[in-house]
Amino acid sequence: MNYISTRGEAPLLGFEDVVLAGLARDGGLYVPETWPTLSPEKIASFAGMPFADVAAEVIAPFTGGAITRDELRAMAADAYSGFGHSAVTPLVQIGPNRFVLELFHGPTLAFKDVAMQLLARLMERVLAARGQRATIVGATSGDTGGAAIEAFRGSPHVDVAILFPEGRVSDVQRRMMTTPTEGNVHAISVRGNFDDCQSLVKAMFNDHGFRDRISLAGVNSINWARIAAQVTYYFVAGAALGAPFRPVSFVVPTGNFGDIFAGYVAKRMGLPIEKLVIASNVNDILPRTLDNGAYQMRGVVATSSPSMDIQISSNFERYLFEASGRDAPFIRAKMSALRETGGFDLGPVKDAMRREFGASAASEQDVAEAIMRTRAATGYVADPHTACAIVAAERVLGEGGAPQVVLSTAHPAKFPDAMEDITGERPGLPPRLSTLMTDKERFTTIDNDIAAAEAHVEALTRATAERT
Ligand SMILES: *Cc1c(COP(=O)(O)O)cnc(C)c1O
Repeated sequence: MNYISTRGEAPLLGFEDVVLAGLARDGGLYVPETWPTLSPEKIASFAGMPFADVAAEVIAPFTGGAITRDELRAMAADAYSGFGHSAVTPLVQIGPNRFVLELFHGPTLAFKDVAMQLLARLMERVLAARGQRATIVGATSGDTGGAAIEAFRGSPHVDVAILFPEGRVSDVQRRMMTTPTEGNVHAISVRGNFDDCQSLVKAMFNDHGFRDRISLAGVNSINWARIAAQVTYYFVAGAALGAPFRPVSFVVPTGNFGDIFAGYVAKRMGLPIEKLVIASNVNDILPRTLDNGAYQMRGVVATSSPSMDIQISSNFERYLFEASGRDAPFIRAKMSALRETGGFDLGPVKDAMRREFGASAASEQDVAEAIMRTRAATGYVADPHTACAIVAAERVLGEGGAPQVVLSTAHPAKFPDAMEDITGERPGLPPRLSTLMTDKERFTTIDNDIAAAEAHVEALTRATAERT
């Protein structure tokens, strides 16, 4: 299986190189050359199957034989052994036709652990086989950073530097990045917002000299292996609710469009998905795009669901590529318009997007009401990201139709201040995280400046020291 860039001007890569690649050299994102499909019998067999076994079946076709099913199963079993629930991503019913898919039972209490724990094992395997080191640089709006540091702490072949926006992540999120003591993981506070952090990382990837010097690797949701790992739980939930014999709808708290793109991939692979619903907070670039056909950036507003406080959804480029019939010149034109004017028109892609997706944006008031309403009706306490999706499910899907799966992307204890403001109660951390709030923190602060950021990363990595 080869991978091609959405911008059509980067070399083809195999799976192992794509695991390390992040952004393509032409600024695009890698996608598989063709979409593998799973037979209805295979999908039906997933009902009741252990999560790691489903992961191996779903991910194996994307490796093109580079990693066997058995190896994948062993890696996945190891990756998910630290989760706090034996089903890994359990389903909980919150209404006659509505279910919550809990993706937050990993070590950092957010859905990013599902992909990151497996990605760390895939990367270690590729690097160990090649006798290479890599430097991971990632931008985080809160959850990716902790998940990456947790997944790679102590890794023999990988150093990790995570850029986070100063003052814009919760105390729990920051401490998950700043308290691990292993010398190969580094948290860096940037004087700027998430989009600034993401732009710094993109600039590092586009600086090919720097990129080669430190063997730069990516773990943001632009990394293809992360998307592939997330496809698993769509199949797990779909099969549990009757797929392939009965369609299912999914509602996804969306920021960078990685998670919901994994749902789109599941559909391309044969999972009968009736509707994919994009759930946003007031940072509503995607619902506005669906509404008026224009992808138009605005300022970012801080909310109680900070992991969705984003105005550039990087993975949306992958969907545009698919919806345009894989038209790389179209993507290049749209992305340069985005860079130059802060927006672009979807053009002919608008109708396709409307058929595929629904979307809804939740205000802070909507979020608070949804949390209280759900708790009163069922006793279930949803976090603010999940609550955005509950609002979107109610507005876009209503009560009938296919079974609705609301993805729950974070544990409420990850956002205790917001939860206390809304419910009056402070959710407690699970016992295994009991020292998190008192452990010593370690991080540095830098300006939103590419030269400063590159110098800082170059000084901390073992990959350059090895070469000079
Ligand atoms: C990252 C994150 C999201 C957004 O996911 P994308 O793949 O970026 O769309 C939503 N909720 C939480 C809690 C997250 O950490």
